[in-house]
Amino acid sequence: MAVQTLRPVAEYESVNPFDGKTLETFAAISDAELESKIATAQACYEIWRHKSYAERAVVVARAAALMHANVDRFARPMTLEMGKRISEARGEVEFSADILAYYAKNAERFLAPVKLDPKLGRAHMESSPMGVIFGVEPWNFPYYQLARVAGPHQMAGNVLIVKHAGIVPQCAALFEQLWIDAGAPAGLYTNLFITHAQSDRVIDDPRIKGVALTGSVAAGRSIAARAGKNVKISSMELGGSDAFIVLDDADLEHAVKWAIWGRMYNAGQTCCAAKRFIVIDAIADEFLEKFRAGLAELEPGDPMDEKTTLGPLSSESAAVDLAKQVDDAVAAGAKVVLGGKRIDRAGAFMQPTILADIKPTNPAFRQEFFGPVALFFRVKNEDEAIALANDSDFGLGGSVFTKDEARGGRVASRVETGMMFVNNISWSDAELPFGGIKDSGYGRELGNMGIQEFVNKKLVRFGSIEAPST
Ligand code: NAP
Repeated sequence: MAVQTLRPVAEYESVNPFDGKTLETFAAISDAELESKIATAQACYEIWRHKSYAERAVVVARAAALMHANVDRFARPMTLEMGKRISEARGEVEFSADILAYYAKNAERFLAPVKLDPKLGRAHMESSPMGVIFGVEPWNFPYYQLARVAGPHQMAGNVLIVKHAGIVPQCAALFEQLWIDAGAPAGLYTNLFITHAQSDRVIDDPRIKGVALTGSVAAGRSIAARAGKNVKISSMELGGSDAFIVLDDADLEHAVKWAIWGRMYNAGQTCCAAKRFIVIDAIADEFLEKFRAGLAELEPGDPMDEKTTLGPLSSESAAVDLAKQVDDAVAAGAKVVLGGKRIDRAGAFMQPTILADIKPTNPAFRQEFFGPVALFFRVKNEDEAIALANDSDFGLGGSVFTKDEARGGRVASRVETGMMFVNNISWSDAELPFGGIKDSGYGRELGNMGIQEFVNKKLVRFGSIEAPST
């Protein structure tokens, strides 16, 4: 009789999308191991919550310094297991370190008590930590996503347990090691190789006080529902289909450069990438030709090679799914302006693609394309551009290009998203809040707002106020 194993099968597999070679696999942990890790995190919280900001900052700043000092040690596994071009991978490591350093420096100021002015007595709001927070994170920014939660939580006095995406286990393990190397107490940052079923049980666990997810809308629906059932606070950083609006007075050279970068950075696998290019008719032909020419120049190659301008997608299945999504869009009437197929070579490569003539009845009209596929729309005027930008289930970011900055500001105010960029798409900086509305989720990460999400905002009122007579 076969013995039934209680240990889940390996779910975490590091595979190089450039050549399909399996690099390393990791088994999901047992329920007993999971229990032990949560218990350690809880015990750590009981100590960590009482540390001063200065004491916490020593650990967080040391982690930042270690990342800065070992960029390639972190960058290379990222390129190997999810295909990010090495220069972009290095940039992400530096940025992740900057985020940690930013919170080490500013958390105390952000969480300082805020004086209130009641009619009677004195009052203030104070911020106190909540406990063990569960993070669920995606593969497309293997460290930046982790830094976005680790910096603020740990400085706020919370501790973190994190389920990273199944395809980036080496990055997940390295980031956990970073905290050990930085001298963090056991349990301050814990990586969990767990199944989705185990993740549900983590959310149900009374020691877990909140859940922060970055991922797809489907994951958001499932995890937010679970958190809601448990009446636990959550933040959802989900997908997007950001509009890139080009007004008739835009500087076209400038706009096209951002269009190419904004669609192709990270092989197009960015939540807030420019995905829908909405261009006013008067300049649409010229924009499209320049954009097409720029994308056509990209050369596929080894993402570890500095000269490569087009890396693979994160996995073979991502490339298969994206190619099918393009086929379906074309079958429903979209016109291929450029590309449209897998690249005929080994690896998870997809041609840079531009689709046009996408009618609202085409399924592509409402979908997120997570790869190098641009949807191109021609509109008559500014009002039509805004209406089209808003005709989306998503509401993450967006951008507008115009020589008239005030006009750009007015358009930005009318687009229904969590973030808008005028004449740039410099998406993310440590000091600026990041997040969306509608199906793109709720809550903000980064900046001052990011650290306020998972702390107890407690009112304290002082004063010998007489009780009302009964
Ligand atoms: P995903 O499939 O939703 O996975 C994200 C994370 O959620 C992974 O760790 C995944 O684990 C986990 N997960 C998914 N379903 C789960 C469930 N039912 N229970 C527990 N865990 C679950 O998304 P992805 O494909 O990795 O990432 C791409 C998506 O993320 C895109 O839609 C992108 O726009 C979005 N994104 C948003 C932001 C933002 O800040 N708004 C930033 C980056 C990415 P497994 O890998 O083990 O399934």
